[in-house]
Amino acid sequence: MSDDGSRSPANGGFISGLPKVELHLHLEGTVGPGLLARICSERGLPPGDIYGFADFGEFLDAYRRVVELLTDPWDFYHVAETLCSRLAEQGVVYAECIFTPQIHMRRGLEHEEVVRAILRALDEAAARGGPRVSLIYDTVRQWGAEAAVECARLAASDRQAGVPVVAFGVGGDELSLPADELKEAFELAGRAGLKRYVHAGEVGGPDSVWEALEVLGADRIGHGIAAARDAALMRELAQRQVALDCCPTSNLRTRAVGRIEEHPLPVLLKNHVPVTLGSDDPGFFGSWLEDEIALCVRTWHWSPEAVSLLMKAGARHSFLEASAKEKLLQCISRRHRTIE
Ligand SMILES: [Zn+2]
Repeated sequence: MSDDGSRSPANGGFISGLPKVELHLHLEGTVGPGLLARICSERGLPPGDIYGFADFGEFLDAYRRVVELLTDPWDFYHVAETLCSRLAEQGVVYAECIFTPQIHMRRGLEHEEVVRAILRALDEAAARGGPRVSLIYDTVRQWGAEAAVECARLAASDRQAGVPVVAFGVGGDELSLPADELKEAFELAGRAGLKRYVHAGEVGGPDSVWEALEVLGADRIGHGIAAARDAALMRELAQRQVALDCCPTSNLRTRAVGRIEEHPLPVLLKNHVPVTLGSDDPGFFGSWLEDEIALCVRTWHWSPEAVSLLMKAGARHSFLEASAKEKLLQCISRRHRTIE
């Protein structure tokens, strides 16, 4: 990070001191080689060399291999604790973290214990003045309609029980299942007061984003970069104010985009599509939100004001209640690194 734009004298440390909002990262995807080695050595498991991947399919395989090494519910305490520390180091004051409970339930882990471990780490971080973190429970698209309904029910009941679940979502293989099949789950989630988060338009085309909007009623979309190929879709997103959480490094690493210069983020911004910036799976890609900002500044010569606007977009399009959103916006404007 020594020679990137975010630390250049021209920016005068503006970016490193800016309070940040991160709306697209997966809890399991924050597990990097260092943390995994620590967890494995505690459990007496051989971690091996499992982070290699060349495209989206291989990335999903690597993801599965890493997740399989989280064998104890309390491993999630370490994962969430490490995440909060990394967020705090970057000045992230608010994050929405995607968590995929069924992956772990299917491996026989007790869901309540996993959630208890995560919450303990989040609560401890908050008590230290660390970031506020909400959860988005997502289902795995290729697991089908029934699993999606189960996950939506789980999100609703955990929210009812006081877990900070703000949305229900879907991730996994975008091309594996038509959106129609997921409609019931999203309707159930909506009725329970949860927002709807859909990964779409990452490896799929504009149709996938249209379906997320029209069929699933998405309140925000993970990636959605294919929208840049469809002017009518960009107008629709701008008009409805449905934001796309863009993750440039992730798109490069999974080969959804060939070169950073070809990334459609500037096209989306030019067409007034609401956009936020996220790191997706920083443990796998080695790039956290600060690195994403630095990459954008370096590539597109963004001014500090442009970065600040993007962080404010994160606050505005977050799934926080209105009063908390307002506090978050003020905290970015005043450069306070805690929400209150
Ligand atoms: Zn994602």
